[in-house]
Amino acid sequence: MFTGRNNGRPRRCIFYILAFLFSQFLFVIILLRSESFDNVPLSQQTKHDNDSWEHYLDWREFISYTSERSAKFYLYNLNLSDTLGVIRKLPSTRHYSCGYRPRNLPPPSKANVSVVISFHNEARSMLLRTIVSLLARTPEDYLHELILVDDGSQDVTLLADLKRWMGGVFGASRRLGVQFLVNRERKGLIWSRNRGASLAGGHYVLFLDSHCEVNEGWLEPLLERLTLSPQLAVSPVLDPIDPLTLGYRKGNELLKGGFDWSLHFHWLRRQLAEKELPEMPYKSPAFAGGILMMSREWFLKLGGFNSYLKIWGGESIELAIKLWLCGGQIEIVPCSRIGHIFRRRHAFDFPPQSDAQETYLHRMLIGFAIPHFSPTQYSNSKIIAESWLDEYKNMFYALRPAARRIPLDYTSDEMQQLSRQRQCQPFEWYLRHVSPELRMQFEELAATGSLRNGDRCLHARQKDAQLMLASCHHGDVTQWSMLRSSGQLSTQRELCLGVASTKRITLEPCGRNETTRMTQRWLRLGTHLLHAGTLQCLDNPLRDRLELSVCRPHAPSQSFQFALEMETHT
Ligand code: UDP
Ligand code: MN
Repeated sequence: MFTGRNNGRPRRCIFYILAFLFSQFLFVIILLRSESFDNVPLSQQTKHDNDSWEHYLDWREFISYTSERSAKFYLYNLNLSDTLGVIRKLPSTRHYSCGYRPRNLPPPSKANVSVVISFHNEARSMLLRTIVSLLARTPEDYLHELILVDDGSQDVTLLADLKRWMGGVFGASRRLGVQFLVNRERKGLIWSRNRGASLAGGHYVLFLDSHCEVNEGWLEPLLERLTLSPQLAVSPVLDPIDPLTLGYRKGNELLKGGFDWSLHFHWLRRQLAEKELPEMPYKSPAFAGGILMMSREWFLKLGGFNSYLKIWGGESIELAIKLWLCGGQIEIVPCSRIGHIFRRRHAFDFPPQSDAQETYLHRMLIGFAIPHFSPTQYSNSKIIAESWLDEYKNMFYALRPAARRIPLDYTSDEMQQLSRQRQCQPFEWYLRHVSPELRMQFEELAATGSLRNGDRCLHARQKDAQLMLASCHHGDVTQWSMLRSSGQLSTQRELCLGVASTKRITLEPCGRNETTRMTQRWLRLGTHLLHAGTLQCLDNPLRDRLELSVCRPHAPSQSFQFALEMETHT
């Protein structure tokens, strides 16, 4: 017995050594294969001749002319961006099966794409990485052209230098067409993207931001979906690139795009259906940010981005609504990944002529509690509400009352004509079939908007959340939402009107436990607000102090009116 064991030992040792060597060999092979694409100079990756490699090195010179050096200007780490090179290896963030699944693609002669990138004050190294990642990771035959629109950047030699650099690298050897357009005066993203699309010659148009890095195999999964249904529009999953570390992270494929009744963009969580795999394409009420691809012809038939919208903001929400209502669909395709820098606020100002007007659109990102808010942006949201929301626009106005006062040199005639021509559905249809979330928000609301008592409005001060009775004309006066099921009266920051044990009226985080179920529950009796825990009414007897007192049916001090009161559902 002992002998047998001793005999087996050297054999087992040799086996382990061989297995170890073999695994090392495999490891090296795998490493070489995965490095082989990104670490080879671009000129070789795209099968260019050797002189272009010389020019390729010139990117350092190109970025050395970046005149504005402050990171505050760009709101991302410029110095780091300058050291990363024109292309870097990105982690594969999509499901592993995306890489080997066979794709059913039409020939490039039937399905090529024009990429439109509009940029305003983008750092040179960042813009370059966007372009180079795109050229390196897109099958040459499917990329019809690149349309670069410099939207009034203060770096006035940028476009000319870029032209030289690209001419040097890609020169005659590449079939790709590049169109360089410039707005000497800044015209905004919306105008620039429309202009780009109107000049595009590809079957499809992709709108891309100028601070992106496309990941391996981004195009094929999108193209595959688009060729199946010509009226579809698609977005990739956006992988967030951190503005400070420029680290590339995996984006969440369980999120879809949507918006609330103030027409603010939100990411919404989605539920997987039974047997639905997270890597499969899924329907979305709105695009993933502003990065989207669709048939160029279909885009133009829909009138492109609404040209009355100014500069930036709301354009992709508007396109999403009209697309869904007029026979199209939106999908997010998790096998396609594009990195995008999400900044906490805008790197750019809005032009001074818009100072007099207010903006009602800002975008909220998951993880950033404070939305972008630019007080000088335009009335884009009002145009969207007037164009597409039908009678539901009252929801928008209830939450954004000052929008009523914005003058518009716009009538929705054009949109109504489009709507008739294309037999578009009413907004009600969108609520029923596309965004149950928005419908639920609507159905859950018993009342919303400012809450008025006499000439005063109930206001939660921004800086310290103190409750007060303020002038209703105060621009920022609190918009309340009264919820049907919980009876809670909540601000947009999710603070709820409650009653402390001393019967003092308080503002506290909205809760869902047993205690808050009573302390934060209100009942609507006519124009009275009856507190469920104490069975007393909200009162403002001295015009500047809230308290609870015995309900008196005709007391004006107990009468509180919301800007929008819903009909009671039976
Ligand atoms: N942009 C532009 N003109 C403008 C404002 C923005 O061309 O007046 C460009 C900007 O450089 C970027 C794209 O439009 O490439 C989208 O803007 P941004 O990234 O600020 O929007 P977000 O990603 O926050 O939605
Ligand atoms: Mn962006």
